[in-house]
Amino acid sequence: MRVRIHRGAREIGGSCIELAHDGARLLLDLGLPLDGNPDDHTRHPDIDGLAGGSDLLALVLSHGHRDHTGLSHLAGPDLPVALGAATLAILKAAATFVPDCHVPTNTVPLADRQPLRLGPFTVTPYLVDHSAYDAYALLIEAGGQRLFYTGDVRGHGRKGALFERLLRDPPRNIDTLLMEGSSLGRLDPDRTFPSEDEIEARLVGLFDETPGMALVAASAQNIDRVVSLYRAAKRTGRTLILDLYAAVVLAATGNPRIPQSNWPGVAVFVPHHQRVHIKRTGRFDLLTAHGHNRIYAEDLPALAPRAAMLFRHSLLPDLDRAGCLTGARAIWSQWDGYLRQPRGQALADELATRAIPLAHAHTSGHASIPDLRRLAAALAPRRLVPIHTFAPEQYPALFGPSVTIEQDGTWWECAA
Ligand SMILES: [Zn+2]
Ligand SMILES: [Zn+2]
Repeated sequence: MRVRIHRGAREIGGSCIELAHDGARLLLDLGLPLDGNPDDHTRHPDIDGLAGGSDLLALVLSHGHRDHTGLSHLAGPDLPVALGAATLAILKAAATFVPDCHVPTNTVPLADRQPLRLGPFTVTPYLVDHSAYDAYALLIEAGGQRLFYTGDVRGHGRKGALFERLLRDPPRNIDTLLMEGSSLGRLDPDRTFPSEDEIEARLVGLFDETPGMALVAASAQNIDRVVSLYRAAKRTGRTLILDLYAAVVLAATGNPRIPQSNWPGVAVFVPHHQRVHIKRTGRFDLLTAHGHNRIYAEDLPALAPRAAMLFRHSLLPDLDRAGCLTGARAIWSQWDGYLRQPRGQALADELATRAIPLAHAHTSGHASIPDLRRLAAALAPRRLVPIHTFAPEQYPALFGPSVTIEQDGTWWECAA
């Protein structure tokens, strides 16, 4: 089996790996570079047969983050796309609200530890803990060789047990491990991250200190975080307010243990721009599906001291008009780098104008370096190749002599 990393050998973003064996090829992920524009042809990887109907058999998506799926529109309708069922449902849900969000149509479901045959390749997905729901590491076997691609992975989220299970019972006899290293270069080798339980506790503390509405700026697609938010709201006697987008995304998980819009302690507020969007797209079924606990602008001022909202900048005009921001506090619950970008800065400025204090409560979607070391030791590959990292040169010192640094665009042998 031959391997070629198109992008990711020395960067986070635009992950894409091509595999070839016995006259057939397979793609793993087709992501958007972090600062990339999906329509910028100069950043598109050079891959034959993306239209389908060639020796390229399928595109396999490890999870739904844009740095892994954001160029999947380049795959033609004839190329099968393998991805988790919940990942597909969440993509569909998001596409209802987010412009230019591509949803593949010719799909094959991935399921935890269920081998999938694609020509000479056998793909076995391993459900992993990550900030994206329904994320997989992928074992690829072909011609007696075995490659394990971690995708994006961590051990300190709400599904940390999956990480420990992988360490206890790893796939054996791995020729090449393609291991993500998002944390390298960002923090010192011994540092670990807070768990989601610790984030929940931090939210509880912040809610207790907040006289008005708690505005928690988190991604609705970070399902672990929404669970932490729901649990913290419950512990402090607050109602969790979702907008329609979040309600639709949570329903798309298909998981009855994930907070839903019709649960007690949950309310749905549909802001003006979403009401306009529903009218324009005719998706009144979404209002019906999530109408059980619906609240309106006039309900917000009275509810504010007992409310925690899954917040986004676009909700601010509605909250202003409702007059419900007295004593409010905002909590940034995603990567703080976004806050330094122009859009994040604009939000911070608007909050400051309203004298709304801004606190932080976040943990990484990616494994700490100690956890990556445990993972590499458990898998004990013949070769460890860096991917999804800005610091490949740090791998040898951390993970030992099996590390081989490859370059974007170059073919190499899985079992060299
Ligand atoms: Zn990811
Ligand atoms: Zn990623």
